[in-house]
Amino acid sequence: TKENATTKPDFISSVIPGWFSEISPLWPGEAHSLKVEKILFQGRSDYQDILVFQSSTYGKVLVLDGVIQLTERDECAYQEMITHLPLCSIPNPKKVLVIGGGDGGVLREVSRHSSVEQIDHCEIDKMVIDVAKQFFPDVAVGHEDPRVNLHIGDGVAFLKAVPEGTYDAVIVDSSDPIGPAEELFKRPFFELVAKALRPGGVVSTQAESIWLHMHIIEDIVANCREIFKGSVKYAWTTVPTYPSGLMGFMLCSTEGPAVDFKHPVNPIGANQDTCKSKGPLKFYNPEIHTAAFCLPSFAKKVIDSK
Ligand code: SAM
Repeated sequence: TKENATTKPDFISSVIPGWFSEISPLWPGEAHSLKVEKILFQGRSDYQDILVFQSSTYGKVLVLDGVIQLTERDECAYQEMITHLPLCSIPNPKKVLVIGGGDGGVLREVSRHSSVEQIDHCEIDKMVIDVAKQFFPDVAVGHEDPRVNLHIGDGVAFLKAVPEGTYDAVIVDSSDPIGPAEELFKRPFFELVAKALRPGGVVSTQAESIWLHMHIIEDIVANCREIFKGSVKYAWTTVPTYPSGLMGFMLCSTEGPAVDFKHPVNPIGANQDTCKSKGPLKFYNPEIHTAAFCLPSFAKKVIDSK
């Protein structure tokens, strides 16, 4: 439902003079703050509040419903890992679906794989794409790749119409389970993803923080273990401007050709599309790929027990 401008959801951060603080019921009692040099855009689409500001130390920042989605300085960590962890784990990915990711960063990373022939993109909010193209050209460059087929709509509805076994890989670059992305964390959605993947196909999803969201993560892991009969692994990376300074990923494969997520079979360096507009990889490499699956004991205990 669309609240009018005066009744913003109570998790909208208070943009106090000089600082933006990220306040949300998803991380009660804590708030990451960034010094604001200038507010560049403030608006509300049919789905969410959209804010762009120039920070003093992380470049430009994109905020949706009061939650930091990306900054120019550290977006590489998230976009490169959520994309290359799955795509470097299977030989010659050809057909890829990206759900969410309106900023275009995941599209930019998928397009580095010269084996990829088709990139279907389903994003619910066209305003995010337009704002990204205006303020984050180095991220939105992914929208320019000729292999990208854009579909504006809900990821759940899109998947319901996808023929069985269509994709080699699905990447779910969603916002958090409050707001339009809520359904992208539930069992029916994961069942639709599994149906859309070929045997031995892979999915990579944004899977929150082991410091803050173990309760969400254990539900996701339990559902994935029941739905995906290949490999089900949890990985994580450091993203300074995400709550608790990190982000996790769920990596799953369907029954079929075995997938060993921990050891890349398709090193990105081997066939990287070196188009200069994308620039070099800033974060991902084969060593950090393998290391991403090493978990601290408190998380390993919960995740391995599901
Ligand atoms: N890629 C960003 C980063 O670097 O951290 C973060 C995530 S991206 C901005 C999240 C995207 O998911 C947003 O563009 C949002 O509009 C989109 N989204 C949320 N719910 C969706 C749904 N049900 N179907 C499709 N896209 C959705």
